[in-house]
Amino acid sequence: MEGKNKDTGCSSKGCHDKSPDSAQKLRDITEDQALKNRLSIIKHKIMVLSGKGGVGKSTVAANIAVALAMEGKKVGILDIDFHGPSIPTLLNLEGRQIQHDGEALIPAELSEGVKVISLGFFLKDREDAVIWRGPMKMNVIKQLIAEVKWGELDYLIMDFPPGTGDEPLSVAQLIPDSNGAVIVTTPQNLSTLDVRKSISFCRKLNVPVIGVIENMSGFVCPECHTVLDIFKTGGGEKMASEMGVPFLGRIPLDPLIVEASDNGNPFVYHYSKTEVAKAFVKAIQPLLALDDDTGDHESLPKEKAMNHKRIAIPVTQGVLSSHFGHCEVFALFDVDCETGKVVTTETITPPPHEPGLLPGWLKEKGANVIIAGGMGSRAQGLFADQGIEVIVGAPEMEPQRVVELYLQDTLETRENRCDH
Ligand code: ADP
Repeated sequence: MEGKNKDTGCSSKGCHDKSPDSAQKLRDITEDQALKNRLSIIKHKIMVLSGKGGVGKSTVAANIAVALAMEGKKVGILDIDFHGPSIPTLLNLEGRQIQHDGEALIPAELSEGVKVISLGFFLKDREDAVIWRGPMKMNVIKQLIAEVKWGELDYLIMDFPPGTGDEPLSVAQLIPDSNGAVIVTTPQNLSTLDVRKSISFCRKLNVPVIGVIENMSGFVCPECHTVLDIFKTGGGEKMASEMGVPFLGRIPLDPLIVEASDNGNPFVYHYSKTEVAKAFVKAIQPLLALDDDTGDHESLPKEKAMNHKRIAIPVTQGVLSSHFGHCEVFALFDVDCETGKVVTTETITPPPHEPGLLPGWLKEKGANVIIAGGMGSRAQGLFADQGIEVIVGAPEMEPQRVVELYLQDTLETRENRCDH
């Protein structure tokens, strides 16, 4: 009967529904409310993301947090990286027992004034959480977010699990109103799909990209402390501009960072006079702008509108050619980035093979992305010099399909198969 309690058969409005389902619903509502209440007094919730593990995401998260605290901000770090919650190690908090005041968990606090909660505090073994099943992970994260007494914070810096798969997506959906994301990458990962995937991850969640940090870019000589560009650098800036997101800067590889991190000494604080520490301070300026009291967010770096892409694909016998320098033709696809749709397609025949010629020629043809099978690092550099984004390791399939997958962010790239 309509309107009746299905357990008691009572149709009175005042009768409480005590079914297990409704008890669970009530618990969920209460938990959600608790989570919203605790997060509502945090001004800026910032996700730190990376397309891959090992690029220095946690190192950057820890140093960003400490740099903000050094500017007088109230800062918390929430380390929810299941794949190695390393914040306790980086901040000398390993083995820290977290107190519960009967109402909520009390975060650990650094002498630099940063409050810290890490999954690592609750694990016997750092690897434990990796084997948890999805729902268990999400329940733990939910609890960590809802049951921590952060108090008022200007910033909560969240060290996310790496990647852009279901796991970080589910975690992100648990955090209402994230204010922005910082994406960490390395020069080696710039030309892969990783950064693009992280950017579209943020777009899916409607979270603004505050910017991209190119970590491990150049090397600080331990003798003379100058930054040496051992690999080609500067690609991050170009890539960010092509993707229409702000570039926050380069952090070089510095053996002192490893030493400071291993000893649990936040680098920006203990080595504040170094160029690398200054690079971190420069990188947090857009974050500081978020806390601008005028509330005028127009001054923030905004994602630039990216209206048009021209994708070039080398083709031989109807499929993507793994040797782009010897392909029969190039298929060009014009994409309207607003709609994500291909608007025109054309096929052009390249000039006779000559090393180093194609990047300039494709630039002349208006291409700003090339999707290839294999490509040597020199050629990649030449394309980057022309402002052309390079994606390598794409499979030998019909170019239309390649573009379709690329636009859906599901193009699987394999190892770069260049043999010269
Ligand atoms: P992720 O969180 O992306 O897995 P981590 O922050 O744990 O990466 O860093 C991985 C390793 O790289 C650590 O040993 C860390 O000390 C080191 N590292 C990170 N950034 C730098 C850098 N700029 N210079 C030197 N070592 C770095």
